[in-house]
Amino acid sequence: MPEVSIIGGGLAGCEAALQLSAAGYQVQLYEMRPQIQTPAHQSACLAELVCSNSFKSTRLDTGAGLLKAELSMMGSRLLEIALSCSVAAGHALAVDRLLFANTVTQAIANNPKITLHQEELKEIPPGMAIIATGPLTSDAMMLTLADLLGEQQLFFFDAIAPIIDADSIDYEVVYAKARYDKGEPDYLNCAFNREQYYEFVDALVDGEKHSVHEFENAFFNGQSFSFYENCMPIEELARRGRDTLRHGVMRPMGLELPATGQKAFAVLQLRAENSDRTAFNLVGCQTMLRYPEQKRIFRLIPGLGNASFLRFGSIHRNAYLNTPHLVSDILELKARPNTWVAGQLSGVEGYVESIASGLITARIISQKMSILPAETILGQLWRRLITEPDKRGFQPVNANFGLLPALPDSVRDKKLKKELLSQRSLDALKTFLTFEH
Ligand SMILES: Cc1cc2nc3c(=O)[nH]c(=O)nc-3n(C[C@H](O)[C@H](O)[C@H](O)COP(=O)(O)OP(=O)(O)OC[C@H]3O[C@@H](n4cnc5c(N)ncnc54)[C@H](O)[C@@H]3O)c2cc1C
Repeated sequence: MPEVSIIGGGLAGCEAALQLSAAGYQVQLYEMRPQIQTPAHQSACLAELVCSNSFKSTRLDTGAGLLKAELSMMGSRLLEIALSCSVAAGHALAVDRLLFANTVTQAIANNPKITLHQEELKEIPPGMAIIATGPLTSDAMMLTLADLLGEQQLFFFDAIAPIIDADSIDYEVVYAKARYDKGEPDYLNCAFNREQYYEFVDALVDGEKHSVHEFENAFFNGQSFSFYENCMPIEELARRGRDTLRHGVMRPMGLELPATGQKAFAVLQLRAENSDRTAFNLVGCQTMLRYPEQKRIFRLIPGLGNASFLRFGSIHRNAYLNTPHLVSDILELKARPNTWVAGQLSGVEGYVESIASGLITARIISQKMSILPAETILGQLWRRLITEPDKRGFQPVNANFGLLPALPDSVRDKKLKKELLSQRSLDALKTFLTFEH
């Protein structure tokens, strides 16, 4: 019987273990807890949810909802368990976290094809292996990965700027222009006058944030913490001086207003997230502001008064690999054949995305599954992990509509547009499952 070792009994590791055992594989699953705890986990259970108990929206007009619908079609075991442990949460799928973790733990323990080893693995075992040790991978395993892949291919922090829906931008105000007109006008620009700029800066400074202390406790187990300069939150830069931003990331030079040719007081740039330009990233706006505050404050940016947020900004401890540099098209490590990385460590972000990654990896191993359709969130998560990033580097990816290719015809009604994108995705997945497998 073919055998696979899985390191890490979290969301990705457990989904992969259950999928592979169902496909006839013998699975050796290694989980270091409870002997060694991470800074965030608290129990001895597998598949522990470290923070929120929410798997986010189930609505098909959200990226998270569509991802769950796709996973359901693919036969995700952890999603099925989550549904059986759900608690009332409106349009979201929230679970009783203890029941969820216990049910997954029991499903693994009662599975004759899975052997659970409660130990930390410091090396990758021989034979087929999946490394699913998560954002809080043990130091010893990080060192092993650094030796195998090169230290520069490992990231420890995740500084994310918000992403907004292109259709929610006011194009009467925002304009496309390359700085000094050098190259293509890829960026969109939001020009501030003096009053608008200082109102924005003051709001950033005063906005309600996650405290560094809170952050330390959650992610660093009380160890001292300092920001890297390149993932400094925008509100921290604003706090350093009212003009810091307009001399830095918001400098207006070379971005004169096309209508008048005048220099703005400050300019915030928007960078396209995909080739169809359906989603834009707020450049330099990585932040520790709370989500409602992000909505309020970033909507002060000229032209973004009605911005619809596809993803909020954040900064947190998150070990992940520079996966597109390291894997083949089937997500296998080039430096170590027969070895895959799954879950958050592979560069997906979120509970459901980690489950998705575990499922995809298991199907690649057991069914030699070819890449999922580009119209699906699953297909796009996979593509992000194998596509060479641009000069901004590789950033973790979560389910959102901005990942999906545009519809052939522009649809102005936002709700209808999302419904059409979802329907297209589910149709494509159905066809794939019918004809490919
Ligand atoms: C503090 C924190 C809060 C988060 N909150 C949310 C949230 O609210 N919502 C959300 O969607 N996402 C959240 N995430 C992101 C992410 O979705 C979760 O971390 C998710 O659990 C990742 O799944 P995973 O399977 O990749 O890793 P995990 O679920 O973390 O599983 C990895 C497992 O590997 C084990 N392990 C590590 N090293 C070794 C080793 N060397 N040998 C053996 N076992 C090892 C760990 O003990 C752990 O059980 C959060 C992340 C962090 C760090």
